[in-house]
Amino acid sequence: MPVESIFHRLEALLPKVQKPIQYVGGELNSTVKDWDSADVRWALMYPDAYEVGLPNQGVAILYEILNELPGTLAERTYAVWPDLEALMRAEGVPQFTVDAHRPVRAFDVLGVSFSTELGYTNMLTALDLAGIPLLAVDRGEDDPIVLAGGHAAFNPEPIADFLDAAVLGDGEQISIAITEVIREWKAEGRPGGRDELLMRLAESGGVYVPKFYDVEYHDDGRIKRVAPNRPDVPWRVHKHTVMDLDEWPYPKKPLVPLAETVHERFSVEIFRGCTRGCRFCQAGMITRPVRERSITTIGAMVDNGIKQSGFNEVGLLSLSSADHSEIADVAKGLADRYEGTNTSLSLPSTRVDAFNIDLANEFSRNGRRSGLTFAPEGGSERMRKVINKMVTEEDLIRTVTTAYSQGWRQVKLYFMCGLPTEQDEDVLGIADLAKKVIKAGREATGSRDIRCTVSIGGFVPKPHTPFQWAGQADHETVDRRLKALRDALRGDKEYGRAIGYRYHDGKPSIVEGLLSRGDRRIGAVIRNVWEDGGRFDGWSEHFSYERWMAAAEKAGVDVDWYTTREREENEVLPWDHLDAGLDREWLWQDWQEAVSGGEVEDCRWTPCYDCGVCPTMGTEIQIGPTGRKLLPLTVV
Ligand code: SF4
Repeated sequence: MPVESIFHRLEALLPKVQKPIQYVGGELNSTVKDWDSADVRWALMYPDAYEVGLPNQGVAILYEILNELPGTLAERTYAVWPDLEALMRAEGVPQFTVDAHRPVRAFDVLGVSFSTELGYTNMLTALDLAGIPLLAVDRGEDDPIVLAGGHAAFNPEPIADFLDAAVLGDGEQISIAITEVIREWKAEGRPGGRDELLMRLAESGGVYVPKFYDVEYHDDGRIKRVAPNRPDVPWRVHKHTVMDLDEWPYPKKPLVPLAETVHERFSVEIFRGCTRGCRFCQAGMITRPVRERSITTIGAMVDNGIKQSGFNEVGLLSLSSADHSEIADVAKGLADRYEGTNTSLSLPSTRVDAFNIDLANEFSRNGRRSGLTFAPEGGSERMRKVINKMVTEEDLIRTVTTAYSQGWRQVKLYFMCGLPTEQDEDVLGIADLAKKVIKAGREATGSRDIRCTVSIGGFVPKPHTPFQWAGQADHETVDRRLKALRDALRGDKEYGRAIGYRYHDGKPSIVEGLLSRGDRRIGAVIRNVWEDGGRFDGWSEHFSYERWMAAAEKAGVDVDWYTTREREENEVLPWDHLDAGLDREWLWQDWQEAVSGGEVEDCRWTPCYDCGVCPTMGTEIQIGPTGRKLLPLTVV
């Protein structure tokens, strides 16, 4: 039976809301398939506003892959702003997809991609608007399977009660595998109902179904164990790793937004994974090992993406783009190819070295030399050793001096506050560093027309990193240090006016910390917040710390216990049954090394130090050089 579009009902509401265009769909390269041509149908959600969600690569890639699959259909849905939410509730309009404006509840799967935990309340809004029961136990045979992915899904325990399933790691292959399991189950006449479908998914070991695992607690609140409650469900669920990125050159048809979005460019992911070993970086740890896309595929994807989309900006994405083994050839090849055209290139790299500036120079051939960003992350040498960010003060000063003397006028420096073992002087060290940067820049250029901006965020310990056991700094400490740094920067007569300062207060980090390392008991807090009106928690104008604290108190949850408490080695962590490939003993050892200032090298260039990923996952580091060239082009 075809499912009707709800657009005629939505249309009447659009004149009354902000930015109505974000709800109308019809973007270049969007896909609307005939409902009956598919037997498996996915609604893909990015749980934030359209302007943030549309450029998300994960959703865009799965959208294309699933729509290319015969008998499969995928549409997108985003979080609606509170103004439209109120009207939809008043008029009984359900959560819809922007492609064909079909009700989300009609789909087989609602796949939600979480880059951050602060999107959890938006998922509840979407479920509620869709008419899908919030709790997985209350869902019936006609409700979609609610499936989470993305980096936050590496600890989905705080939202376990709301999820039917979660997937860890790269989505390309597993989304197809899940589709085939659903197709087969439907073709067989849905034997055993929803429960059997979830069982079939869980048995594979590649899909986590929270309801098939029971959590037992000690009297003091720590977890005693997490164990499967069905015989055929594996004890641990593993992440997925795509080993040959060249086989998956997506997006091939980039979505071109109709409304304004945070990025309006064509992005090519040039590699996945990072082995630099920054201890605070969850993305680096959970996406190991490094797998590079070849130079020929990058060249072909850029060419094709521009032709398909008409974008005039190309971004080369990864966790540390200057680290691609053939980046110099990629940069030169692309800069040559697009010199004199209106296509601009960007490389979001924050590496602190002269090579990064060479690359930035290549990429700015078509544009102005405005700003360069470097990320020393820690304000003192000691702090940088703790986090394994091997950048000396000398490296930084030399690098920024080169940048200023080559015509760059603005340098941005990224730092974190609240890192493990941090003292006040580590944060105040940032002021000294920034002053030295300006001093060196003035000397190198003979000009006072240079600027440096210090950007600093609160550190949140994340699962599957060496800091997963660390006590998070309380927000009072973070705020005190951030203010002391502000005073030290602003109070300086000689350099203060040349240094910009951007920071956020420490309270949102505490909520993020609660959600990142929480267990199933945090679900009640999320629900309380949502029932109290919590929406768009990633937006400072919508976020309310007081609402979260009141919700925690109502749920009987001690926020400090989850955030500022340091864990012991043998404490069962809520995500221990979810396998990111990293060896727990190695993570612990690295945490101990951090405290004593020990460093680890990048295993891309040095021998393996046994973090566990490659042997556990059957994967390996894949880097060039391939010796191939960007040109001539191959066809994707
Ligand atoms: S197993 Fe070895 S080679 Fe593989 S990511 Fe870990 S340290 Fe690097």
